[in-house]
Amino acid sequence: MPAISQSVTLLASTPEPLSLIYAAFRQCYHPGFVADMWPRLLAGEVSREKQADFVARILDSGHESPIEHVSFTFAVAGISRALSHQLVRHRIASYSQQSQRYVDATGFDYVLPPQVAAVPEARERFEAAMAEAGAAYAAIQAILNAHGRGAKANEDARFVLPNACETKIVVTMNCRSLLHFFELRCCTRAQWEIRALAEAMLARCREVLPVVFAAAGARCERLGYCPEAERFSCGRYPVKPDLS
Ligand SMILES: Cc1cc2nc3c(=O)[nH]c(=O)nc-3n(C[C@H](O)[C@H](O)[C@H](O)COP(=O)(O)OP(=O)(O)OC[C@H]3O[C@@H](n4cnc5c(N)ncnc54)[C@H](O)[C@@H]3O)c2cc1C
Repeated sequence: MPAISQSVTLLASTPEPLSLIYAAFRQCYHPGFVADMWPRLLAGEVSREKQADFVARILDSGHESPIEHVSFTFAVAGISRALSHQLVRHRIASYSQQSQRYVDATGFDYVLPPQVAAVPEARERFEAAMAEAGAAYAAIQAILNAHGRGAKANEDARFVLPNACETKIVVTMNCRSLLHFFELRCCTRAQWEIRALAEAMLARCREVLPVVFAAAGARCERLGYCPEAERFSCGRYPVKPDLS
């Protein structure tokens, strides 16, 4: 039952994301049919720089729906169920999560919070709790098996598993949803584990599509002020009342 760390892999993203967003924007403002323009776009008839400039300008105006045509799919492992519960609250997304019904959790891995790891007494108690939960899981599974529950034993034994229990999940979000996710979860108010995930996802999105993600992040980055109450603000930007 080792403590483990987060792993974030970009599995796939929509091909030709810049041209696709450019084409979707152009369809809004151009009398012609974007399908006729598409081969010329792919052939480089409109330079990448020109496409990026156009996209950046229109995005700045608040017209965001064309970026919904581009999605990113991440495989995430080494995260806690505490994190995944927060993640799946983001409804404009698709998820496929490792099942605790079909996958045996005997000897489960867990996430050890750094603040717990830093205090030997807390760490000792935490690790003991993981061992106790693991022992209870195995014992309940064995008892249920002995009572003929068979393959269904996992789904009842899992009720003793902790929030720290490791999970794996595949998540797909489109660019608009990702920008919103980053605004909420890259903020220092977000819980440390989901913030680390959001920052790792943002780094990969930036590599693929800088025109959309270069300036993405916590809401303060876009607003130029902190929208949180003063007591929650990290101090990087002034809180709103200070501006008036
Ligand atoms: C710092 C922080 C603390 C939090 N604390 C808590 C907490 O204590 N308890 C708790 O329950 N949650 C908490 N949350 C979760 C939060 O309330 C949201 O559920 C979560 O962040 C998902 O955001 P979302 O609904 O905007 O995203 P999505 O579900 O992806 O939705 C994106 C956007 O679509 C629109 N939308 C989606 N569904 C609807 C709908 N049904 N009706 C109208 N508009 C819709 C909204 O504009 C929404 O912002 C917290 C989040 C953060 C960042």
